[in-house]
Parts: sequence; structure tokens; C-alpha cells
Amino acid sequence: MSVPPPDAITPESGEGPPGLYVHIPFCRSKCGYCAFTSYPCLPAPPADYLAACAQEASRIAASDWVQARQFATLFIGGGTPTIYAGEQLAGLIRELLARFAFVPDAEITVEANPNTVTREKLAQLRAAGVNRLSVGVQSFSDRLLSAIGRSHTQAEALAAIQAARAAGFENLNLDLIYGLPGQTLADLRESLTIAVDFSPEHLALYELMVEPGTPLAREVEEGRVTLPDDDAMAEMESKAQELLAGAGYQRYEIANFARPGCECRHNLNYWHNGSYVGLGAAAVSCLSGLRLKSVADPTRYAELVGKGEPPYVEAESLGLHARFRETVIMGLRLLEGVSLAELEARFGLTPRGYYGTTVERLVERGLLILNDDSMRLSEQALPVAHQVLAELV
Ligand code: SF4
Repeated sequence: MSVPPPDAITPESGEGPPGLYVHIPFCRSKCGYCAFTSYPCLPAPPADYLAACAQEASRIAASDWVQARQFATLFIGGGTPTIYAGEQLAGLIRELLARFAFVPDAEITVEANPNTVTREKLAQLRAAGVNRLSVGVQSFSDRLLSAIGRSHTQAEALAAIQAARAAGFENLNLDLIYGLPGQTLADLRESLTIAVDFSPEHLALYELMVEPGTPLAREVEEGRVTLPDDDAMAEMESKAQELLAGAGYQRYEIANFARPGCECRHNLNYWHNGSYVGLGAAAVSCLSGLRLKSVADPTRYAELVGKGEPPYVEAESLGLHARFRETVIMGLRLLEGVSLAELEARFGLTPRGYYGTTVERLVERGLLILNDDSMRLSEQALPVAHQVLAELV
């Protein structure tokens, strides 16, 4: 597919330094609720995939767009990046850190699943420059882990967190999910209490989404699985917020909590609708309004990159209004909301002027708070954020 080269993109005013993302689309097995691009691959993931990522990195890194910028973050996500051997993954990270210019205190994150890490592997990643680890715990209950088809156990999650601390990770995120089949408030409280006992710097607490086409969606349709009802979900959400606030975590995004100063910088760039380069199968890049999406099949991805061809299957140049709407919607996920001065500087538009009565109605219903400096979701809007944001698409 023919796309404009990144060199042709003009930087948009007001954008911060970009982030770099690498997608590793392999896991030990497929979880029942998963709609991410990931493929089960035992006994080992393909080595040539990492070579293809490195090759694509070298092509993009040579472009004028990248050469003119310093990157603030690197995030290796998946899938399960730690399905690779420590030295394989560390090799790719060293290569990326050498090819791209990064700010001196760049945030370098790797996502890990509990049954794919050892202290040695994590020490290899730490030595390669990784300074933040994000562990996909999801729950500390073996019953609930098994209900959603996770391949790890509570004991493995506990061991992974201990190994991360022992390997020197001082910036640790734990991912948890609420709204699991059969989950009670007491279950969630127990998982949060165990998580908080480890004093992670960051906690992500996602609501379980039933994605069409997943085994979980079929189980729900056929009545084989019961999910917590709306009242139970609202109670879990509010009690979780209370428990985490009491433990010193600030909710700064709908699903994300951090100790002060430990917010995830890579994701903040997404929520500010900044630019980012995505490498790997199914990865998305957004280069000052040019959105590129790579082919999802990792074998095809490696073939295209091997032939020196761009691996993109979609390319879209977003107009000013589309970028403005996206920036509003992404920014409203943050509890601080969107800065009106920043919106005006980047797009020459204001929410009131652009959305007119739609915004006025949301303000009147108490769902949006609009003042001279910012627009944000009210506390009452947080549990129904998806519906509110849908009105501003
Ligand atoms: S570990 Fe994550 S990416 Fe992999 S199958 Fe499970 S939910 Fe999907």
C-alpha cells in the first residue's frame, strides 16, 4: 500500500515528545475474554519476528520525522513480550535505544505475564535499560483466573512481583480487572488488598469488557456464565476507588491509579493525543495526524518488512476537526480533563464553539464540568464515561 513517507508530515504545534511502541503478538494461550491481536505460540515464539521489528525500526529511525525528535517513552506491549527469552528481548530493547534518540530520563516499560518471568529474565531486562514493569495479574483469585482462562495462578503472580522487586524494578504497575464472572465485592477487595501490600507505584483497574466473538461472549450469550449486574459493578468501582485512595493512590484516568509522580508517561501521551511510532504486527502509528496501521498477521508482517516494504494495511490522514474531536475524547479520560488553552493552541477551536448545545446539555445534566480553563468529566459521569464520550465522537 502506498502511504506518504513520515518525512512529509508537518509537526503540529503543542505536541510533546512522541512515544515508541512495539507490539509482541504472542501469548502462551488465548484468554477467554481477549480481543487483542495475540496468537498462542508454544513451545516458543518465532525469533524472526523480533528481527523484523528491529528491521522496521531501522527503516523508520532513518526518516527525517524521527531524526528530528527525541522520544520520551518506549513501551513493549502485547500479547506477552516476556514470552521471549530475556536475552532476545533485551537485544531488541538495546537496539531500539541505540537507533532512536530518547530524552535522558525516558520511561522504558515492558509488559509481563506472571508465568513467563524469572528473576534472571527480569534482571536482563533491567540491565538493558527497562525501568518500568507492567505485570498482568488481573486477579489474585485462582477461581477467577481460571474462569477467564488465564494461564497463570495466584502463586505465580506473587512470585513474579517478588522477582520484579528483587531484579531492581522500582516502578511497577499491576493490571487488575473487575466485573469478572462470579466475582464478588469481597473477591475484588481481597485482590486489591494483596496488590496494595506490594506498594506498586501504579495500578490499572479495568472493567471487564465482553468483546463480540470471544469465548466469553459466547458463554454469556448461552447463559453459561453470569456477570455482576450494574449495581454490583457500580459498587465495586466506588469501593475500589475508596480503597486505593486510602492507600495513597490517585485516580488520574478512568482506569488508572498512581502514586504522585508515577503516572504512566507513555499512556499520558496517548491520552493527550500526541504522536507515537508503533512497530510490529497490528501496531498503530500516529505521526502528527497521519495514522498508519500495520498488518495483523505476524508472518505476513515479517515477510513485508523482510522485502523492504512498508507493512501498513491502513493509512489515514486525519483532518483538523477529527484530530480535535479525538483530543477531546481521549483527554476526557483523564480526571484533570482537557486544557482549553492547549486545545485552542493546537486546533484554534474550543469545545463550546465546536460542540455547541451537545456540550451545554452534558453540562446541564451534571456530566461535564466546563470552566474557563478546562473541561472534564464529573464524578457522577465516571461510571458511565463511555456513554458520555460517545456523544462527543
Ligand atoms: S495474556 Fe493478554 S494478550 Fe495474551 S491472550 Fe491473555 S488477555 Fe490476550
